[in-house]
Amino acid sequence: MYNDIRLDKLNEECGVFGIFNNDRHDVAHLTYYGLYSLQHRGQESAGIAVNDKGTILYHKDMGLVPEIFNKVVLEHLRGNIAIGHVRYSTTGASLRENAQPMVIKYRNGQMALAHNGNLVNAAELRGKMEETGTVFQSTIDSEVILNLISRYRISSGSTVEAITKTMKDIKGSYALVLLTSSKLIGIRDPLGIRPLCIGLLDNSFVLASETCALDAVGAEYIRDVNPGEIVVIDEDGLKSYQTEVKEKSQVCIFEFVYFARPDSFIDGASVHTARMEAGRLLSREHPVDADIVIGVPDSGLTAALGYSLESGIPYGQGLIKNRYVGRTFIQPDQSQRETGVRIKLNAIKSEIEGKRVIMVDDSIVRGTTTKRIVQILKNAGAKEVHMRVSSPPIKYPCYFGIDTPSRKQLVASTHSLEDIRQMIGADSLGYLSLEGLLKTPVGAKHSFCTACFHGQYPMEVPFEMDKFSCGC
Ligand code: AMP
Repeated sequence: MYNDIRLDKLNEECGVFGIFNNDRHDVAHLTYYGLYSLQHRGQESAGIAVNDKGTILYHKDMGLVPEIFNKVVLEHLRGNIAIGHVRYSTTGASLRENAQPMVIKYRNGQMALAHNGNLVNAAELRGKMEETGTVFQSTIDSEVILNLISRYRISSGSTVEAITKTMKDIKGSYALVLLTSSKLIGIRDPLGIRPLCIGLLDNSFVLASETCALDAVGAEYIRDVNPGEIVVIDEDGLKSYQTEVKEKSQVCIFEFVYFARPDSFIDGASVHTARMEAGRLLSREHPVDADIVIGVPDSGLTAALGYSLESGIPYGQGLIKNRYVGRTFIQPDQSQRETGVRIKLNAIKSEIEGKRVIMVDDSIVRGTTTKRIVQILKNAGAKEVHMRVSSPPIKYPCYFGIDTPSRKQLVASTHSLEDIRQMIGADSLGYLSLEGLLKTPVGAKHSFCTACFHGQYPMEVPFEMDKFSCGC
């Protein structure tokens, strides 16, 4: 049974948003816009919870943000504090009951929670709680967190005390926005694995996974929530409580490589600049003679530009992406797979034909999409295709909030560089080194988790979890 719980959270990506209104803002509408700008972090379900004078109203469902909310729904969500969530899960847990925010009623009132990250000890904690009679409505670890906070709140003098105790119990990655009857609370795990930032819109504080959401609602970026920090926002403003942090921070480097939007800043570093730097370093590490540099839309484009600027080889737009194909796209069956990729991406023949092409992408996971794109370029008449990847080979699954498959499905975990080159049909293949990648988040205040490249996780990953994930 606990395996199911692990499975549910194993491959989950999310974004969170929160606002405490001290002006005359419509918090539900602002949260809607914030979530819209975080849609890239999760396209499966979304939800908003608002506090209406101590009562929490909420609406959540499966689908994209604009499919779930309309004017009538948003107008119903009246209140002065709001939190929101977008979620993506590849496992069997695509259930409405797993959509967030998670809302509970307990002895002291109501609370709602939105969570980005994964706990590695959720199954163990949940098992212990179930033994003492606790019932759960969902199979997600966020409910374990909410349950612990509410339990500790009964015996503690304050919500902050209850959260601090909860943080001692839970292990893993978490960027949380918590809504109580009078407060908006932001919490970042002691290693700061997932991002969380603070903004100010007039006199109203905003919390968001990425600064692009602050920009979307017109809020000014103030700072990031620090690893292990709890920020409590109420009518009196923002108060910070720093919990004990024993180890160096481990911010997820993959936020810079692939996940975050390029217009966001994380812990003081620009995602765009990081990708540009990655492209520049890639060009120095893996130069090749060619006629044109192209990027795989969207996350490979910035690195391709960096590669082009550094190498002096002209940048071109060789591939076009259909913007209307999202993760909800119905995959054709095996015999129609080629059609699937062609619908998503197509080559611009006039740019490619007869040329030696350098194709830059941010990462290779399974290798299947890359193989098809190389084929599309060759079919469009490319003389040579040189694949350049602006991150190192991904060999280990992420347990902390990035959707990566098990080791046996990660092509770099099971194949040599030359095998991968042959498999994807490229004329040459080069990956950015880890040393190079670590230089790319220019100005970042923290150190990074790079476990997906070498398997040294920032904390112990339960054996069964590893075993499960390896498919052994
Ligand atoms: P593949 O060749 O099948 O490994 O696919 C490579 C593509 O997957 C690259 O364009 C990456 O941008 C993209 N990618 C990397 N990580 C993820 C992720 N967590 N979810 C979805 N796509 C990803």
